[in-house]
Amino acid sequence: MKENARPADSDGGARERALRFVNFLTAAVTPFHAVAIGSQMLERAGFVALDESAQWAGAITPGGKYFYTRSDSTLVAFAVGSKYAAGGPFKVVGAHTDSPALKAKPLTKSSAAEGLTQLAVCTYGGGLWHTWFDRDLGIGGLVLVRSADGALEKRLVAIHAPVLRVPSLCIHLQTAAERESFAPNKETHLIPVLCAAPAPPSAGAGAGAGASEDAPDPFSAAQEPELLALLAEQLRVPAASIASHDLTLFDAQPPALAGARGEFVSGGRLDNLASTFVALEALIDACADGRLDDERGVRCVALFDHEEVGSASATGAGGPVMEEAISRVGEALGVLPKGELALRSLRASFLISLDNAHAVHPNYRSKHEAGHRPLMGKGCVIKTNANLRYATDSVTSFVVRELGRLAGCPTQEFVVRNDCACGSTIGPIISERLGVRCADVGMPQLSMHSCREMMGAQDLTHCHALLTAFFRRFGDIDARLGACKRPRAEP
Ligand SMILES: [Zn+2]
Repeated sequence: MKENARPADSDGGARERALRFVNFLTAAVTPFHAVAIGSQMLERAGFVALDESAQWAGAITPGGKYFYTRSDSTLVAFAVGSKYAAGGPFKVVGAHTDSPALKAKPLTKSSAAEGLTQLAVCTYGGGLWHTWFDRDLGIGGLVLVRSADGALEKRLVAIHAPVLRVPSLCIHLQTAAERESFAPNKETHLIPVLCAAPAPPSAGAGAGAGASEDAPDPFSAAQEPELLALLAEQLRVPAASIASHDLTLFDAQPPALAGARGEFVSGGRLDNLASTFVALEALIDACADGRLDDERGVRCVALFDHEEVGSASATGAGGPVMEEAISRVGEALGVLPKGELALRSLRASFLISLDNAHAVHPNYRSKHEAGHRPLMGKGCVIKTNANLRYATDSVTSFVVRELGRLAGCPTQEFVVRNDCACGSTIGPIISERLGVRCADVGMPQLSMHSCREMMGAQDLTHCHALLTAFFRRFGDIDARLGACKRPRAEP
C-alpha cells in the first residue's frame, strides 16, 4: 500500500476495522491461533470461559455472556438475553476457522537430497497448490511439551520468518507441455526446503536435556532435527521435550491493506478468518452495554474447524457441536434438552452460515452466471443453489435482504452457472442435522484457496452491520413472518 493510501470509504470505521482484521489475520496463522485470539477478544469484552466437562446449570444466567472451546480449534460464544424466555430463539452465526494449507506430517524427517534438508508435508483441503511455490513460508501451530517431571503443556508457536520454501523448477528444464499444463504432484513436488544439509549435530532430537525417561521416543527420533531446534528455540524448551505437534505452513509475507486506495485486504486464510473475525466483533458489539436488556433469545457465534475437509469430525460442523451447544444452554436455562420447549426454541432459531463467496473475476467474467455477479466491496453475498449445495431458501434470503435494508448495508446475490459445479459450506450440514432455518451468506473475494487471497476491505464493515442487525433485529422480521398465513391453494 502506498504511504498515502486509504480505503475507498472511511465511513463507519471501515479502515480501522480492516486494520484490526489485518492484525488478527497476521497472528491467526492456524485455527489454534484464531481460537486463542478470539477467546482473548471475548474475555476482554466480558465473556466468561466455560468448561465443557463441568456442570453448566447454575453457571449460566439471563444477561450473561459465555464461551467455550473444543480441541482448541473450535469456539462457541453466546450471550443470553436478559429477558430470556423458555423456547426463545438461538440466533447463530456459524463460520469456520480452517483454511487449505500445507501441514507438517507427523514424522517430519524427509530424506535429505542434493545437499538440502526438506520437511515432510501433507496437503490439507483443496488448496490452489501452484500458489505455494516460490513463496517465503513460516510455520506454526500447537505443540505438546513434556517437561522433565512428565507434566504436559500445550503451547502455541508461530515462526513468522521465511524458514521454508517450495522452489519451482526453472523454465529451462521444463518441456513445452510441462510449461503449458503446470500440474505439480502433491506428494513429490510440494516438499519444502528447510535448510542446507547436513544439520548440525548439536541440534539433534534427544540431544537436549529435559526428558526424564531414558527410553528413546521413536516419534522424536523421526522428527527433522532442524525443525525441532527452531521450535525449541521459539518456545524456550529443550528439543527433546517436544512430544507432539500439529504444524501448518503459512505465507511469511504479512497480510496487508492493498490496492491503490487500500480498498482491498491481501493475505492468506481470508476464507474464512474474515468471517470468524467479523462474527466475533459483531457478537461482542451487539452484546455490549446493556444491549441484551430486551433480548428474549440467545445470540451465538459458532466457529468450526475442518470445514475444508468435509466437516465430519468431533470439532466440525458435521459433529455434535451445534446440537450440544443448543441443548446444553437450553438445559442449563431450565429447558429440557428434548422437550417441547427445546424443539420450539429450535424452530424459532435461525442460522447465518457465513463463509466467503466468489466475486466476479475481471479476467474470467464468463465463469459467473450473467445475472448474479457479486463485486468486492459491495456487500455480503446471499448464496442460493437449487440443488441445495447452500441451505438458503426464498424466505431465509428475504430475512438477510431485510436485515441489510434495516442496517443500511448492501447485499448481493449469487447462484452458480448451470454448467459449473458448486461449492458448499457448513450451512446445509447444520440445517440438515438440526432442521434449523438457514441462509448461506459470505463476503465476496478473489483467489479463494490461494496461498494469498484478496477481498474488499469495506465488506468487513458491511458484514459487521448485517450481523449486528441480525442479533438485534431478527425478532422484528420473524414476528412479521410468523404473522403470515399458511398459503392456500386456489379453489
Ligand atoms: Zn470457506
